[in-house]
Amino acid sequence: MATKVTSPSGSADGAPAHAQAGLSIVVPVFNEAAGLVRFHDRLVEGARALQKNRELKCEVVYVDDGSRDDTFAVAKALPADALDIQVISLSRNFGKEAALMAGLDHARLGAVLFMDGDGQHPPSLVDRLVGHWLDEGYDVIYTAKAHRENEPALRRFGVKAFYSLINWGARQKIPEDAGDFRLLSPRAADALRQLPERSRFFKGLASWIGFRQIRVDYEPAERLHGSTSWNFRGLIGLSIEGLTSFSVAPLRFASLLGLLLALTAFFFGLSILFESVFYGVKVAGYPSLVVGVMVIGGVQLVMIGVLGEYIGKILSEIKARPVYFVAEHNIKSAQDQTDSAPARTAAE
Ligand code: UDP
Ligand code: MG
Repeated sequence: MATKVTSPSGSADGAPAHAQAGLSIVVPVFNEAAGLVRFHDRLVEGARALQKNRELKCEVVYVDDGSRDDTFAVAKALPADALDIQVISLSRNFGKEAALMAGLDHARLGAVLFMDGDGQHPPSLVDRLVGHWLDEGYDVIYTAKAHRENEPALRRFGVKAFYSLINWGARQKIPEDAGDFRLLSPRAADALRQLPERSRFFKGLASWIGFRQIRVDYEPAERLHGSTSWNFRGLIGLSIEGLTSFSVAPLRFASLLGLLLALTAFFFGLSILFESVFYGVKVAGYPSLVVGVMVIGGVQLVMIGVLGEYIGKILSEIKARPVYFVAEHNIKSAQDQTDSAPARTAAE
């Protein structure tokens, strides 16, 4: 993969606008109006420290993912006194992955930090992440929940199963437990931008691009307000999305299962033949027949479903629709503190 920036330290190497030194903090927000001001205050504190200690220019990109409350208005009213603020409003709720992509596309500085807007990703950790990037030259600094003991056993089991399936036979394993709170160096962010697929699974892609990666364990904080937008169905959906957009493991699993069933049937047939030829045993046909038909029928239906998931994915990639539409884009610079960009309505 050709990337234009070679320095891990984030300094520009004749690279395009994206590779300017600095840090863009991308924050997807969906119905976060109640906690946004508090979140922003904490972010500003962190950004001030970064600017003072490391002379790192920062901006924040809020992506309003079609919120139904007044998140957009609140974000637009935030004062840009320490760092530039971009507020992008999507034309409807496209989902977090699409919001992250919109943020990545609009980030104007070199490195990109993804962070949730609900306060669960502690801004106090940002300095440590930046340290791994600037001092040690890491490209992908991802965070993972230090503990999962407080989660229900069923959920933990689901997570385990998901990762063993998605990583099955994969050359580059997706780290278990990794969240969306991650810092990408300019060249890693650039690599991510070059990926052409529409269905994004950022956790997987950020790991797939390679470069120097490091894991940082952290304790997620409580939400500032409200509750998570993920329910059981949403999580299952995301898992299927992640699996099918990222790995062909389910298809391989189907082939293996088919092989296993065929082999079992073959040996079962042999044993029946053996018994009736050598021992004259009369084999009762009806129950085993029903069981056999039902097993094969069920497995085939499931596997057709799996195939269908992949065909659906091919369809949506072929349609090549934009991943999101921007309804409004507002930029506030820390210097002039005026709205510099008029509202735009085009897809970007
Ligand atoms: N989010 C979003 N679009 C959505 C759902 C969520 O942009 O459709 C944002 C949300 O505002 C938050 C982040 O994604 O900043 C994580 O969402 P949430 O806290 O609901 O997920 P969890 O932390 O439980 O994984
Ligand atoms: Mg959250």
